[in-house]
Amino acid sequence: MSDCIFCKIVNGEIPSAKVFENEHVYAFLDISQVTKGHTLVIPKQHCKNLFELPEETARNVFEAVPGIANAIKNAFQPIGLNLLNNNGEHAGQSVFHFHIHLIPRYGKDDGFR
Ligand code: 5GP
Ligand code: ZN
Repeated sequence: MSDCIFCKIVNGEIPSAKVFENEHVYAFLDISQVTKGHTLVIPKQHCKNLFELPEETARNVFEAVPGIANAIKNAFQPIGLNLLNNNGEHAGQSVFHFHIHLIPRYGKDDGFR
């Protein structure tokens, strides 16, 4: 989609700090790091949110998540990690290209509630 910032990131029109990439999936550091290593995992194919996510796209994205989580674990040594996914404006979604947040956790004072 031409006016989608995450499509532009996938296409390289907007720079990003790549964490992982395969044929279907792209992962990159969130520009606003809620904790160190905060990463977004997205399908390369544009899709608005969970309600419109084709099953095959869901499979591709979720298949990649454990490997990305372990790469983050190895790189940043968190003691835990939250997955977060917002769907719809009222649920806190601000970019309307499906994405999963991977939020590494470092203890109770790591800044994420
Ligand atoms: P949402 O609120 O939709 O669940 O999450 C959108 C996320 O995208 C936010 O955490 C925000 O910081 C991140 N974000 C927005 N624009 C950019 C960008 O241009 N580059 C990167 N790396 N992250 C972005
Ligand atoms: Zn998009």
